[in-house]
Amino acid sequence: MKQYEKVCIVCPVGCRLTITEDSDSDSGYKVEGNNCPRGEKYGIKEVTNPTRVLTTTAKIKGSHYERLPVVTSDGIPKDKLFQCMKEINTLKLEAPINAGDIVIKNILDTGIDIIASRSMSKE
Ligand code: SF4
Repeated sequence: MKQYEKVCIVCPVGCRLTITEDSDSDSGYKVEGNNCPRGEKYGIKEVTNPTRVLTTTAKIKGSHYERLPVVTSDGIPKDKLFQCMKEINTLKLEAPINAGDIVIKNILDTGIDIIASRSMSKE
């Protein structure tokens, strides 16, 4: 029976989770150490399909700033983070851009978009 130790990062409490394979439960896992239901969901996802929200910046032209902060619309699989960064680094954005604009739709077929997290006007 496989067992995993993880720290829940959903909130600042940082509960220490023990996730154990459990064929009797619907999810296939039993989670212990969580102080709330979000920890159970996080623990199971962490051992089945771990994801992370990616926050970074992309090059932009025509603005006072050279880089635009961007963020993924949701968590993307951890094993695709590096490839995502490569895609974002190829962007050639031009001001103006509004916060919330999608700068890459459905990155790497993950169903997740890359979104501008602030507005940048033309200089
Ligand atoms: S289990 Fe709940 S209380 Fe504990 S860190 Fe996760 S979200 Fe916070």
